[in-house]
Amino acid sequence: MNRDYPLEKVRNFGIIAHIDAGKTTVSERILFYTGSQHKIGEVHEGETTTDWMEQERERGITITSAAITCFWSRTSEKDKKDVSKKTRFNIIDTPGHIDFTAEVQRSMRVLDGAIVVFDGVSGVEPQSETNWRYADDASVPRICFINKLDRIGASFERSYASILDRLSPKAIRMQIPIGEESLHEGSIDLLTMKGYNFVGNMGEEVVEIPVPESLLEEAKKYRSELIERIVEQDDAAMNAYLEGKEPSLEELKAILHKAVVANQIFPVYCGSALHNKGVQLVLDAVVDYLPSPKELKPVTGINPKTGGPVERHAADDEPFCALAFKLQTDPFVGALTFFRVYSGTLSAGSYVYNSTTGSKERVGRIVRLQADKREEVAQVFTGEIAAAVGLKDTKTSHTLCDEANPIILEQIKFPEPVVSLRIEPKTKADQEKMGVALRKLSDEDPTFRVSGDEETGETIISGMGELHLEILVDRMKREFSVIADVGKPQVAYRETILGAADAEGKYIKQTGGRGQYGHVKIKLKKLEPLEEGAKISKNITREDHFEFINNIKGGVVPQEYIPAVEKGVREAMARGFLAGFPMVDVSVDLYDGSYHDVDSSEIAFKIAASMAFQDAAGKAKAVILEPIMRVEVIVPDKFMGDITGNLSGKRGQIEGTEERGMNKAVHAKVPLSEMFGYTTTLRSMTEGRGNMTMEFDHYGVVPNNIATDIIASRK
Ligand code: GDP
Repeated sequence: MNRDYPLEKVRNFGIIAHIDAGKTTVSERILFYTGSQHKIGEVHEGETTTDWMEQERERGITITSAAITCFWSRTSEKDKKDVSKKTRFNIIDTPGHIDFTAEVQRSMRVLDGAIVVFDGVSGVEPQSETNWRYADDASVPRICFINKLDRIGASFERSYASILDRLSPKAIRMQIPIGEESLHEGSIDLLTMKGYNFVGNMGEEVVEIPVPESLLEEAKKYRSELIERIVEQDDAAMNAYLEGKEPSLEELKAILHKAVVANQIFPVYCGSALHNKGVQLVLDAVVDYLPSPKELKPVTGINPKTGGPVERHAADDEPFCALAFKLQTDPFVGALTFFRVYSGTLSAGSYVYNSTTGSKERVGRIVRLQADKREEVAQVFTGEIAAAVGLKDTKTSHTLCDEANPIILEQIKFPEPVVSLRIEPKTKADQEKMGVALRKLSDEDPTFRVSGDEETGETIISGMGELHLEILVDRMKREFSVIADVGKPQVAYRETILGAADAEGKYIKQTGGRGQYGHVKIKLKKLEPLEEGAKISKNITREDHFEFINNIKGGVVPQEYIPAVEKGVREAMARGFLAGFPMVDVSVDLYDGSYHDVDSSEIAFKIAASMAFQDAAGKAKAVILEPIMRVEVIVPDKFMGDITGNLSGKRGQIEGTEERGMNKAVHAKVPLSEMFGYTTTLRSMTEGRGNMTMEFDHYGVVPNNIATDIIASRK
């Protein structure tokens, strides 16, 4: 079977934004203009296509990344029916709320470009910065859209300056607005020097208008700036330009396309999604400047059989390989596994190899989600995004591939959860339902963890923030009808050591028949980061927060007991030393010990190891660690003093303040434990006019006096 759509005409992109910048509205308009949806569901009515889940509707925020397919043609109505003139958009939805940045990170892996939406009043906001960094890490080409230019206080120039200043000097104006605030009418395209207006109920008709006289000079000035920036990217064009020959429009667009794909230029557009202005021109820009999957570098991975590197090019005749990036339950179709195909093709009804787990799975059906329907497809091709129905063991971040040509793509890295809470099911029946629910939810969301408290038998769930857990608990109750008591959110503390120590553990029992004998000596020290390119030798197990070195010479501890020693250490670490929080960032060096021919056993060595660890931790300056958050608070000037005073009182470190439009922004690092319920405090301190965002920054050592309280409270 042949491709249903040329690869050059596919664009996989996401829309990323600070919450409330207008991502949902922009998505709605895209679906409308691409003809996938005939009625526009306003955000406040909670009818948007990408917001599937009930509580998303209630909260008006988008939590999950659904992928939606639609078709865009920049030509006339007549041509719109002609598929060959269209470009296929696979839009990967990304959430705006700070608690869900993992979702954004995850989607960065599978999108080839992004539209970054800004609020024309606030310009760059904290979440825009975070998302921008993630996009930088993944080298995602970006187009900026300064939205809401109709709002009072909106300013294209100020917002544009904040992009240059806070995100990247490589941003460049492609347009300037015609009018702002209530006078916002349309925009001037600087490349072509054409004015645009948007007519019709939904602004569906894009009308060319003359550039208003009053803006002509300004437009010319910014056009030269733009042309210079473009020709700088290409030596031949630059030389011609210096000789007074401006490249043709087609040439300029081609150079710009290359520069955008290479992350050398970020074009900036403007408009008002709510008032139907500007969105179509951004879609044209997606077609013109964002890459098709064909232009991407080949993906790389590891061959699980040989351990050697492998590469796959974006071509249908290469072996199949894809990344599963999202599990989602669709009310009509059931459990869906969204995947992005990097090479080859996959047919419905066939088998696929999950190289991450090493198991084979049958792909029942393959569907592509459109705004108003689920389209079943027989085959998916390279560069496409679709969802499989019927995969059982495939989780987020697993690689699916051809069994004869296995490859494991790089796994997606997720941030660590910082908040946890206890849940207790009401009845035995609830207990069982809860187990199923939690497994499903944590399969879907890798930043959501479930663990058990061994001593109390309670279940603890951890996540990225209060809201994150609140929503998960909500889903558990609603979708799985689990009745449970839910504790208060708690900080996910950890423990570590600051020093080093030597210790010995002996577990020897002589009681009549067979005794027990385990004896180890270990050195404990802080885990240091690996140097770049450092090789890990065979006798070392190394993970993100733990290292175990087997330095046993001459079999003084027989090889068969070494795994038991490691296990004993790990269990002791999980139990913690000071206050029962898991211990991290420790390097354990097993260098000596002894055994007994008859009495030694795995269990004896495990106990000896955990005794040695306890002893060593006590001598190596154990401390408690707490999550320190990066906090930004935006308030009117007159509240500044109160806010900084209050944050300092919360053990916060004020890192700076700056003007933010009519307001002041305060940057601080504050321990998470001090920040619970802060939104309410902020509201009451600022007559409801303050805004804040917060994200995890690092784990820091808890000061002594507070550590003492924490330890006492855990006794
Ligand atoms: P999201 O949180 O980024 O998805 O933002 P939404 O699309 O939900 O928009 C947040 C709020 O801003 C909603 O009340 C929208 O109606 C409003 N909004 C979105 N775009 C515009 C715009 O261009 N102008 C104005 N004035 N409001 C807008």
